[in-house]
Amino acid sequence: MSREDYEAVIGLEVHAELSTKTKIFCSCANEFGGEPNTNICPVCTAMPGALPVLNEKVVEYAVKAGLATNCSISKDSKNDRKNYFYPDTPKAYQISQYDKPLCENGHVEIETSDGNKKVIRIERIHIEDDAGKLNHDDFGGESLVDLNRAGVPLIETVSKPDMRSAEEAEQYLRKLKSIFEYIEVSDCKMQEGSLRADVNVSVRKKGDPLGTRTEMKNMNSFRSIVRAINYEIERQIDLIEDGRTGRARKLKVG
Ligand code: ADP
Ligand code: ZN
Ligand code: MG
Repeated sequence: MSREDYEAVIGLEVHAELSTKTKIFCSCANEFGGEPNTNICPVCTAMPGALPVLNEKVVEYAVKAGLATNCSISKDSKNDRKNYFYPDTPKAYQISQYDKPLCENGHVEIETSDGNKKVIRIERIHIEDDAGKLNHDDFGGESLVDLNRAGVPLIETVSKPDMRSAEEAEQYLRKLKSIFEYIEVSDCKMQEGSLRADVNVSVRKKGDPLGTRTEMKNMNSFRSIVRAINYEIERQIDLIEDGRTGRARKLKVG
């Protein structure tokens, strides 16, 4: 089969840090770049007995993002515990939303290279807390944790697998970025990690059902996203042409 018989399928999970004054479940300042472990308290460091209190502004900002991306807003929404053990998260779970996200079934419009408009559907936007940050610089062979970012509010916007090229994925991310900046829910500074994407890619013969996806996590530049998608498309086509199928891989970076 020739390479032209394949098409790429791309879906993005986009994390945006919200520009609220305080964190999502405590009153610590939500600020980038402070001295390590200065904006912390018993809640965001998960001391025994500390309980989360939801920041109303986070809900307001997430609803704003949902309205700006044509989502319907759920009247009945809840948070869920997502267990994961990693030393950047003292609770050993993330407070996210599973089956009842705040916003669902939205879409945005992008312009493709041929000048046509294309609709990219949004499955959901939910709220969750960000993790702390591990520093792997040289501290005598140790890694040190900075919990200033633990509990920073995030919205995660999950697209349908509607993009068919790296260029469409870039246009979609640029569109989300400009919307979130315009409505002032996030500063979207990619170099500071305020906007980052998990990029899901698969390939298939045109007309076939969806293929096996790989997920490239925590990407924070347009250039690296475009390069990674194009590399991944070629790699997956090679695998299939070799008679092998792509094995799903999940990698945590950063
Ligand atoms: P998970 O947390 O397991 O990654 P999500 O539903 O949050 O699940 O996100 C899955 C993302 O992958 C969505 O953006 C979706 O559009 C995309 N996706 C799902 N199936 C495929 C596929 N076969 N190829 C490419 N992208 C896909
Ligand atoms: Zn706190
Ligand atoms: Mg994912």
